[in-house]
Amino acid sequence: MIKKTYPHHFQSSSYSSPQPGSSVIITGAVHGNETCGTLAIRRVIAELEEGRLQLLAGRLTLVPVCNPLAYHLEQREGERNLNRRLIPTTDPQEFEDHVANWLCPLLAQHDVLLDLHSFRGEGEPFVLIGPENNRGPIESFSHEKHELGMAMRLGVHRLVDGWLGTYARGVQRRQQRLADDADAKTVANANTQFGVGTTEYMRSVGGYAMTLECGQHLDPQAPAVAYTAIVNSLRHLGVIAGTAPEAVAEMEALRIYDVIDKLHDDDSFVREWRSFDVLAQGELIGIRADGSEVRADQDGRIIFPDAAARAGEEWFYLTMPNPRLTDLAKAGA
Ligand SMILES: [Zn+2]
Repeated sequence: MIKKTYPHHFQSSSYSSPQPGSSVIITGAVHGNETCGTLAIRRVIAELEEGRLQLLAGRLTLVPVCNPLAYHLEQREGERNLNRRLIPTTDPQEFEDHVANWLCPLLAQHDVLLDLHSFRGEGEPFVLIGPENNRGPIESFSHEKHELGMAMRLGVHRLVDGWLGTYARGVQRRQQRLADDADAKTVANANTQFGVGTTEYMRSVGGYAMTLECGQHLDPQAPAVAYTAIVNSLRHLGVIAGTAPEAVAEMEALRIYDVIDKLHDDDSFVREWRSFDVLAQGELIGIRADGSEVRADQDGRIIFPDAAARAGEEWFYLTMPNPRLTDLAKAGA
């Protein structure tokens, strides 16, 4: 049931070359108020139409707006976060379920996904990538090298991994806390599949994927960051004409290792944290509604702090230096 009736359609633009090559999909406005990707994708469409960008090989699908309801409302979500529990369903309940039923099969037709986002606070752009190659139960993966190679060529200098594994541990804790009388939203938040967004879905169907956080929502530079990443990716993959970019020389790599939920709406930060603010071991981060302290258990950086989170939702994540940094250098990725 779609409670809000606008809009009524989903839209993508696809370009196919007679030459075989990579099959790439680029997505914007998974979150409706994150429009840098939308602007950059529309610019790429215009330049392809004008002939200023030329398709060389493979297939390119551009989706300026993944969540048209949220985009129309100029807010992050329509009826729920599209970038959680992104799986097709035979029983769509919320608008985003209908998006999933359209978007997931489209993703599955491609090999590579670049998903363009922005964030609320200040800060430098960064790229979120998947796990190292593994055959584990949470996110088995075999395209580590290709994913890293592309991430190193987007033009940004900070890389983060470890999201889904950390999220799965958070879900386990949430399930342990869950009361019998929990409401539907609390139950949904405790579902393991809740951690699956665009990139996780793409990896689950055999592709590789990355989320580029291009800057603050209204940063005038963010659309240019997104545009550069699109063009660099497509040249790197040989999909459009132009010189393939070199890997960036300097990349700070971080690993997310823990997620802390709010347990009460009134749990509060001791200061206004921004993503990538440095944390020293033992540093006070927040105070629970019951007065207990929440401190950093090791040196690292905070990420995705959400002062407005509600009880049972993710409050902030913790990162540490990423051991893959040295592997990156060795791989020459
Ligand atoms: Zn986003």
